[in-house]
Amino acid sequence: MNQDLLALTHTADEYDKYLNAVVPPVFMNSLHVYDRFEDYCNVDVYKDDQFVYGRSSNPTVHILERKIAELEHGSRAVAFSSGMAACTAAIMATCKAGSHIVCMRDVYQPVKRFLHTVGIPRLNFSVTYVSGNDLDEIEAAIQDNTALMILESPATFVFRVVDLKAISEIAKRHGVITYIDNTCMTPLFQKPLELGIDISMHTMSKYIGGHSDIIGGVLVSKNEELMRKIMSEMREWFGGVLGPMEGWLCIRGLRTLDARLKRHQEIAMAIAEFLEKSDKVKRVNYTGLASHPQADIIRRQQQGHTSLMSVELDASPDKAVEFIDNLKLFGKGCSWGGFESLALCPLYKASQEELDFLGTDRGLIRLYCGLEGEENLLEDLETALKKL
Ligand SMILES: *Cc1c(COP(=O)(O)O)cnc(C)c1O
Repeated sequence: MNQDLLALTHTADEYDKYLNAVVPPVFMNSLHVYDRFEDYCNVDVYKDDQFVYGRSSNPTVHILERKIAELEHGSRAVAFSSGMAACTAAIMATCKAGSHIVCMRDVYQPVKRFLHTVGIPRLNFSVTYVSGNDLDEIEAAIQDNTALMILESPATFVFRVVDLKAISEIAKRHGVITYIDNTCMTPLFQKPLELGIDISMHTMSKYIGGHSDIIGGVLVSKNEELMRKIMSEMREWFGGVLGPMEGWLCIRGLRTLDARLKRHQEIAMAIAEFLEKSDKVKRVNYTGLASHPQADIIRRQQQGHTSLMSVELDASPDKAVEFIDNLKLFGKGCSWGGFESLALCPLYKASQEELDFLGTDRGLIRLYCGLEGEENLLEDLETALKKL
């Protein structure tokens, strides 16, 4: 049995509860009331089917949480109003004033901005950045007060991966909690909790929502004590709850996730192979290519590939901008995970230090392959390459 596909389609289906409707309702209520005061007092909102107020939990959102927990092989998932709300909740739940964090250098940029504008100046956090590829460097970065390790694999820009099992073993030896942004893999293509990672995060604004129409995030873990804390302290006190309508749209997104991802992957593979063969392209960074320098780790820990990749042209950074502007089917925009293809030069204004670390230049092009089909996207790329 493929439990993942059953989780996407049927987990938490309880038709008899909802008048045999095949789709659960959007519970557009903030309040739940009880006949007896004692019943109200005995509610434990962490448990299934116990609700008091929308800032603690919502029945529609909880159906989504049950599906995500099952997909990721966690014991509990907690949904948030955005990916960043989920990420900062994980940081605040695991760190306290004076904590030290080991963070991969190429994690999602706003996470670093949070650490540098809030964590370090206001909460006295300290942060050591590591590449993530050198296990000795990671172990050496751990201090007595290290509370958290922030990971992302594959990481944005050049799509480097890190060995999640090996890193989680090091972290466990030192009592450090590990966190990963698993957004671009989705729970179908990578299961970090099975590799020993403590907390997995998904921005549901991307593949899970899948249609560029919602913002949402989710945390999932096998550690019940931690999830209880994340739910009752971080979500309830900061108040970043996912709305019921967004929760419902994410449930709908999950139903087609497997079908969409397989198409995204197929299209991305065709594009990556085409670009890799072009004499106008210097390098294609894509986890699906045999030429990826870490193909062995990828084979061990991923069950599939994102439709994000980056491309280095054999041309100046300004030519790269001209190239993406010549693409008609790739919108110039920063998000991804929807049906529409995108292109950007995300490092166009990056510092030399950052470029040196990534081993690339300002002209790096990030492509997100949507669902317009290989034929159309390849034609668009070919036309723009000819104009170079
Ligand atoms: C978009 C994104 C986020 C942030 O998610 P929001 O829902 O916009 O807060 C985090 N990580 C990755 C990898 C993303 O692409």
